[in-house]
Amino acid sequence: MKRVIGIDLGGTKVNGAVVDESGEILKWDTLSTSKSGSPEEVMDGIKELVHMLSEGENISAIGIGSPGFIDSVNGKVLSVGGNIEGWAGTEIKSPLEKEFKIPVQVENDANAAGLCEAWIGAGRDLESFVMLTVGTGLGGALFTRREGIWRGHHFQAGEVGHSILYPGGHQCSCGQRGCTEEYVSGTAVENEYERLSGIRKSGKEIFDTCKSDDIARKVVARFAWDFAVFLLTIKNMFDPQAVIIGGGVILSKDHWWDEMIGNFQSEVNNDPGITILPALYLNDSGTIGAARAALDRIEEVD
Ligand SMILES: [Zn+2]
Repeated sequence: MKRVIGIDLGGTKVNGAVVDESGEILKWDTLSTSKSGSPEEVMDGIKELVHMLSEGENISAIGIGSPGFIDSVNGKVLSVGGNIEGWAGTEIKSPLEKEFKIPVQVENDANAAGLCEAWIGAGRDLESFVMLTVGTGLGGALFTRREGIWRGHHFQAGEVGHSILYPGGHQCSCGQRGCTEEYVSGTAVENEYERLSGIRKSGKEIFDTCKSDDIARKVVARFAWDFAVFLLTIKNMFDPQAVIIGGGVILSKDHWWDEMIGNFQSEVNNDPGITILPALYLNDSGTIGAARAALDRIEEVD
């Protein structure tokens, strides 16, 4: 059975795993990178991790899930680099192929999460779904069984976090104002709480105290409302069989899920019976999905 390495890049750490063709993780490792780490530092981190993981292994390919807009043909970051400082414009694929001499496939991190769910996760029996990753930011992926991931003509499809929810609203890191990511993400919850109270708390803390803290209650209610409105747009745009919701915020779903679904059902124009379900994989989805991208790449070559 072929073995590949999947790498998931975050703002502060790089996760990597050796994965086989059944999706099983055989070996796992992680490296911290400083928050202000330069692109060179991150690239060195990836190389170090691949060296560590590939020791004594016969690795056929490497898959990388990266934040930002990703040109998956040339394996480079486009003009939006996500939560890694200075990441825009970075060449990922060519230096790694030069060093390791095996195929490297680079995907946007939300697309990687979508590939994981389509392969062995909540989407494994679905014909089509929209994947949403709600964590520090809000990522998206569009998947159909026939086409796979829809990347778009300019590799920017599925960037649903940058659809506008409130025209002229909060400034987004992408340059637009009022992007959904500024309202439906862990960071958005933290920012809104700070705006109302002057106190900075973690998203988890805010969700956990939403029954006892009035401001937290308000913030979480707003989150559940904004999320539902956003789901209406997803439904009307794509009419997928299902929406799969993953990312770190799903761990707090007991505090907002039912309210979000209630809001969606009360506002929707014609409920087609769209299934909205939590992802099966959270922390591992990026690495497993990146590994799937690597396997797809070698299947294409074969
Ligand atoms: Zn944006």
